[in-house]
Order: sequence, then structure tokens, then C-alpha cells
Amino acid sequence: MKRVAAPHLGTIKMRLTCPFCGERDHQEFTYRGDASATRPPMDNGSIEDHNTYVFDRTNPDGEHRELWNHTSGCRMHMVVTRNTTTHKISNCEPVGPWTKALGGKS
Ligand SMILES: [Zn+2]
Repeated sequence: MKRVAAPHLGTIKMRLTCPFCGERDHQEFTYRGDASATRPPMDNGSIEDHNTYVFDRTNPDGEHRELWNHTSGCRMHMVVTRNTTTHKISNCEPVGPWTKALGGKS
């Protein structure tokens, strides 16, 4: 998976709550991209659809679902719901094989 730079936070101290490790500083995590983007099926031959998936992103003002990885901790991937204006985190939920074990959504 391609590494993506974390959203610019300036002097804001953002803390994420890993479903496994608990609350941690955002610097322990790696931003992995937009969780709302849907990859087109591999048998979809439209280069435009794949181009849109890879390069076209909205710049939402308000709550946004993002993929993060706890790279300096348990390495779990999670979906973080973050307000892009205030950086307030309203939800962190696991994705992948830990989802069911930790009671998250699919
Ligand atoms: Zn963790």
C-alpha cells in the first residue's frame, strides 16, 4: 500500500483511540487515505474509473472517514471519522481481521 502523508496538523495535537491499544498521539499512526473511496472492479476496463479512484479526491469540510494504521503500535488498520475543520475524532473502528474480534462494524 502506498504511504500517504498525514493531514497537515500544524500545532494541533490530535489523539487517536486505537481499538486495541487505547488513546495515543497521532504521530504513532500513518494516514493511509480516504476510507470512502471505492475501488472499481478489476475487470472494469475503464481507465477513467481507475484514474478517478486513484487521483480524484474531494476536500470535505466536516466529518470524513479516513484509513489510518497504528504503525508504531499494534499495526492495526482502522477507520477514523475525523472533522477536517476541528480535527475532532468522533469514531475509530477496526477494519480487517480484527473487526469481528473487537466488535467493530464490517
Ligand atoms: Zn494499536
